[in-house]
Amino acid sequence: MSHDEFSLIREWTKRGAQQAKGGLAVGIGDDAAVFTPPPGMQIVACCDTMIETVHFLRETMQPEDIGYKSLVSNVSDIAAMGGIPRYALVSIGISSGWSPPECRRIYDGMYEACERYGVQIIGGDTVSAPDALYLSVTVFGEVESGHALLRSGARPGDAIFVTGPVGGSAAGLAMLLKAKADGVEVSQEWKALAALHQRPEAQVKAGRLLVASGHAGALNDVSDGLASELWEIAEASGVRLLIERDKIPLDRDVEAYAASIGQDPLAWALFGGEDYQLVGTAREASSIKEQFLASGLPLFWIGRVESGAPGVWIADQQGTRPLEKGGYNHFA
Ligand code: ADP
Ligand code: MG
Repeated sequence: MSHDEFSLIREWTKRGAQQAKGGLAVGIGDDAAVFTPPPGMQIVACCDTMIETVHFLRETMQPEDIGYKSLVSNVSDIAAMGGIPRYALVSIGISSGWSPPECRRIYDGMYEACERYGVQIIGGDTVSAPDALYLSVTVFGEVESGHALLRSGARPGDAIFVTGPVGGSAAGLAMLLKAKADGVEVSQEWKALAALHQRPEAQVKAGRLLVASGHAGALNDVSDGLASELWEIAEASGVRLLIERDKIPLDRDVEAYAASIGQDPLAWALFGGEDYQLVGTAREASSIKEQFLASGLPLFWIGRVESGAPGVWIADQQGTRPLEKGGYNHFA
C-alpha cells in the first residue's frame, strides 16, 4: 500500500477518535492513548492475532467478518475474566492482495463489534505485510479489584456449566469449506450455520453476572474447544472434571448439518473452538441458574468437579473415559 492508502486507514479509524468519553483522556491521534480506570476497578488486558490462511480464509470470511471476529475474540477473553471491555488497540499488517476498500470493510466490521460491546478503538499501528493480512487486536477492560474470575477457581463440589451451544463455529467452517470444494453457493438453509463461524458473539453479560453472583468458581472462554478449555481449568485448579456427553448443548443447525452429512457433531463440540461461550464452575448451582433465568440468559449444567488427579473425564452410555485435550491448536 502507498503512503496515501495508509492515510486512508487513519481516516477510517478517526470515527473512533471523535468522542473522548468516560475515562478516555486521549484517543487516536497522538503518540499513545491515555485513559483512567474508574476507582475500585483493575485493568484486564488481552491480545489476539489473526493471520490470513492460519486463522481465517478469504473464501469463508467477508472482510467485515474478519474485523468483527478479531474484536469478539478479545472481548471474549475479557468476558472470561468477568470484566467489562472498554478500549481496543488495532495493529494491521496489509499485504498486496488487500485493496483500500477491503481494508475499510475490515474496519466496518470492527466498529460494528465495538458498538455492540461498548468498546472504543483508541489507537493502533499500520504496516505493510509480506504476503498475508495480519490483524492483531488488544483489548483493555475493567473488573472490580480482586474479583477477576480465574481458571484456578474450581473446587471439588462445584457444578460445571457452559453458557450456550458449542461446536457451531467448527460445523459452520466445515459446511463453508464443503460448499467451496463442491463449487456451490451456501444454501439459505445453512446461512445461520455459516454465521456461527463468521459472526460469533462474546458472553460479556454472563461473565458480569457470574462476578456479581459471588458464587462463581473457575471461568474460561471456548476459543480452542471445550475439551481444551476444561483441561486448562482442571490443571490450573488441580481438580478432576467430569462432564456428561448428553448434557453438552448443541445448536439445532449443527445437529441438522451433522445428520445431513452422516457425521457425529460431538467432535465439533469438544474440539472445534471459536464458539466464545463461557465454560466454568459454580458453587451454588440453583442460585446461579435462577439469576441467569431472571436475566434472560441461558446456562447449561454439563458436569461436576471432583477431587483427584487433574484431568477431564466424559461419561456416556458406554461408561466414563478420559477426555483427550485435542483442541485445535494453530501450531499443531
Ligand atoms: P506514531 O508514528 O507516533 O507511532 P502513527 O502515525 O503510527 O503514530 O499513528 C498516529 C495515530 O493513529 C496514533 O494515535 C495511533 O494509535 C493511530 N493509529 C495508527 N494506525 C492505526 C490503526 N490501524 N488503527 C487504529 N489506530 C491507528
Ligand atoms: Mg509518535
